[in-house]
Amino acid sequence: MVLVTGGAGYIGSHTCIALHEAGFDFVVFDNLSNASQESLFRVQKIIDRPISFVQGDIRDKEALRSVFTQYDIDAVIHFAGLKAVGESVQQPLEYYDNNINGTIVLCQVMQEFGCKNMVFSSSATVYGDPHTTPIKEDFPLSATNPYGRTKLFIEEILRDIFVSDTSWNIVLLRYFNPVGAHKSGLIGEDPNGIPNNLMPFIAQTAVKKRDYLSVFGDDYDTVDGTGVRDYIHVVDLAFGHVKALEKISNIKEVLTVNLGTGKGYSVLEMVRAFEKASGKDVPYQIAPRRSGDVAKCFADPSYAFETLGWSAQKGIQEMCEDSWRWQSQNPNGYAKD
Ligand code: NAD
Ligand code: UDP
Repeated sequence: MVLVTGGAGYIGSHTCIALHEAGFDFVVFDNLSNASQESLFRVQKIIDRPISFVQGDIRDKEALRSVFTQYDIDAVIHFAGLKAVGESVQQPLEYYDNNINGTIVLCQVMQEFGCKNMVFSSSATVYGDPHTTPIKEDFPLSATNPYGRTKLFIEEILRDIFVSDTSWNIVLLRYFNPVGAHKSGLIGEDPNGIPNNLMPFIAQTAVKKRDYLSVFGDDYDTVDGTGVRDYIHVVDLAFGHVKALEKISNIKEVLTVNLGTGKGYSVLEMVRAFEKASGKDVPYQIAPRRSGDVAKCFADPSYAFETLGWSAQKGIQEMCEDSWRWQSQNPNGYAKD
């Protein structure tokens, strides 16, 4: 049985489907601080079977103990965490407590129950401002905000756990920019309030929830001056977790892997691709650079293929089509109105 912390969230809900398709049984543990249980009802509809869900906080040792007592958990996919960069600057203690303390409590309970297999959601943010692209796993690490620092610290903590006890099997998956949604249009990304990320902002502009997109900077050293990122379809990303689980008992190190496509797209390229996929206009205005942004960030994904036999399959058009299907069918996300 696989414990999926944060399984009601964007990436977690898609991973539940991938786990089901690969024949893994799982239980979701989520405090619903940034998700709605509706996502799990929709997952149930897609996979056509009930799923086990426990509402709880990873900082709550007793709640975790009771899950480990009730279910025979042999691996954990650990998505649970807060992820808004700007909010992390305003509320660093909340981020350190939720993400770092939460992970420590989770690992303590795993150790107590002899469960030593963990797949952790890290992020390309740990590369800070990369000196060159594409980014390889052995590039220097740094962080520019408290959110990024929680990922860096957790990576270090997990490495220390492995050093102290090499019977742990740990995979650190460094995601690039997850976008897109399940083909059904039933589940997708449902940000609170005004989206910070590009793709949901574009989608909400196309559906006329927002007047226009602000393009943060057009004077970067990139193809058209706008920022370049490695957008990866969330269904491809979800499958990467299945591959990690399938390999986890054979790894003899803390396996650290980029999950990206290896291709970078600029903001304006994304706008055009989305307009093509949706048949809608996405008006935009050039705005000043956003502080902390880097010009270019895209992965060298070859190590993921070498170690996990995983590579991204879905291209930019499919990412935009699937985001659009989700956005147009659910203009208010999971909210019922
Ligand atoms: P999300 O917010 O949709 O999912 C995270 C889930 O964790 C939510 O359902 C939330 O309710 C839950 N959660 C948060 N704190 C919790 C706690 N203390 N106890 C129990 N549940 C808790 O985010 P996502 O986009 O699905 O991201 C999943 C993971 O991947 C996060 O760790 C995030 O930092 C990481 N990540 C995301 C991105 C991205 O762009 N989406 C990129 C890199 C890494
Ligand atoms: N971006 C933008 N307008 C927005 C949101 C994002 O121009 O409203 C740009 C941003 O500057 C970056 C790219 O889109 O170049 C991706 O931003 P996102 O926040 O989605 O991802 P991250 O910067 O965290 O990789």
